[in-house]
Amino acid sequence: MLFPSRIRVIPHEFATRDEYRNWLIEGSEPFRNSFNGDSRAEKHTSSPFTWFEGTSSSTFLGGCDDTLAWCRKFASPASNASGESAIMKPDGHVEGNSYDYDLIVIGGGSGGLAASKESAKLGARVAVLDFVKPSPKGTDWGLGGTCVNVGCIPKKLMHNAANINEIMIADTAAFGISAYEKTSHNWEEMRSYVQNHIRGLNFKYRVNLRENNVTYFNKLGKFLDPHTIEVVDKRGEVSTMTASRFLIAVGGRPSPLDCEGGDLAISSDDVFALEKSPGKTLCVGASYISLECAGFLAGLGYDTTVAVRSILLRGFDRECADKIESYMQDHGVNFKYFVVPKKLEKVAGDKIRVTFSDESQDEYDTVLVAIGRSADTSNLGLNSVGIATGKNGKIPTVYEQTSCSNVYAIGDVMEVSIVLTGQ
Ligand SMILES: Cc1cc2nc3c(=O)[nH]c(=O)nc-3n(C[C@H](O)[C@H](O)[C@H](O)COP(=O)(O)OP(=O)(O)OC[C@H]3O[C@@H](n4cnc5c(N)ncnc54)[C@H](O)[C@@H]3O)c2cc1C
Repeated sequence: MLFPSRIRVIPHEFATRDEYRNWLIEGSEPFRNSFNGDSRAEKHTSSPFTWFEGTSSSTFLGGCDDTLAWCRKFASPASNASGESAIMKPDGHVEGNSYDYDLIVIGGGSGGLAASKESAKLGARVAVLDFVKPSPKGTDWGLGGTCVNVGCIPKKLMHNAANINEIMIADTAAFGISAYEKTSHNWEEMRSYVQNHIRGLNFKYRVNLRENNVTYFNKLGKFLDPHTIEVVDKRGEVSTMTASRFLIAVGGRPSPLDCEGGDLAISSDDVFALEKSPGKTLCVGASYISLECAGFLAGLGYDTTVAVRSILLRGFDRECADKIESYMQDHGVNFKYFVVPKKLEKVAGDKIRVTFSDESQDEYDTVLVAIGRSADTSNLGLNSVGIATGKNGKIPTVYEQTSCSNVYAIGDVMEVSIVLTGQ
């Protein structure tokens, strides 16, 4: 019972349907007739039959639907409940303004695309800028942001591949299927399937923007003043655009590995597009991104180790984190605890030798670093609009409004937000 001090429920239960009917409907004084002539009660035949017990008389509530509706209302916040309501600072927007757009969204990821389409549906003149700066390893991608290109989508596809592989190895024999007792994995084929799937999504997102009357520019934006941005395209051509309002939805990028030879490591921006199999892999960090990558790599049969500085999944539910850890150990992921890489160096055979903080060494084909992400705000010209960033380059907001009243922020770039597509 959720509200024991406000509500007491007394169940009346009958062993058989007949006993219930006898009590409710039949006999000389059927129970349903004791509600001051309430015709709804006198016609009610099914279970439940719910009523409020009073000291002198009782009131019939109804059957299942009425009871659920009452519970819902009872458990919902009162409409006059005191509490904060979202009040934005006036941002100077007027209908029929002379700016190029009512709204320019900077960043075409999960947050920016959703916001741009919703705004256009409400009648705003909207443009989206989305421009991908290649990773230090040179990987780049199309419209849709992190989730579609280098996050949720490729990760889930690769997990799917790993699940299929594990099922074939572990589960098929019990069902009498012997053809797949030994599996082998072709990374190049999986990669091209995954990348083709992503390209299809990039195309659909473009079409989707057009269908929703949102103008898309494959350009990199930077603020010049609160109503003007400078945009640069792939060929380096520079122009300016104006808007009454801006929405910053530039997301984040992986933090690099700060040690000697750290540039030899790849990140989650690269792993899904690797041209050749990662081979024996070290995943640096115990974030969900590192563990998820380690999970699918081990599931596909690659020798995989996670370097853990302190604990797995800091900030997550400890019981779940512990379960994940033992599950991963059972499924072949190696963990190297209480170490960070101190030095990475190329050695014979295209391998990377890693020296850890405890002076131990090992050689890997791939080192994948996933030790955190920073908001992609360093070259956004935020000084020109008086916005100061906080930890990891994130933007402080109040109800998604920044300190510059006509500039808003959404998604991973926001301070104090859950960094997930499904926020
Ligand atoms: C490996 C991995 C797995 C993940 N798995 C999940 C998951 O399973 N479920 C989940 O909910 N979330 C997951 N996430 C998190 C999710 O991807 C992000 O939370 C989400 O993509 C954030 O959306 P966003 O709109 O804030 O930014 P992004 O999706 O990062 O989009 C920002 C876009 O802005 C562009 N941009 C940046 N600067 C500029 C500029 N100046 N001008 C123009 N364009 C610019 C960027 O190139 C990018 O395309 C995962 C992330 C990773 C890395």
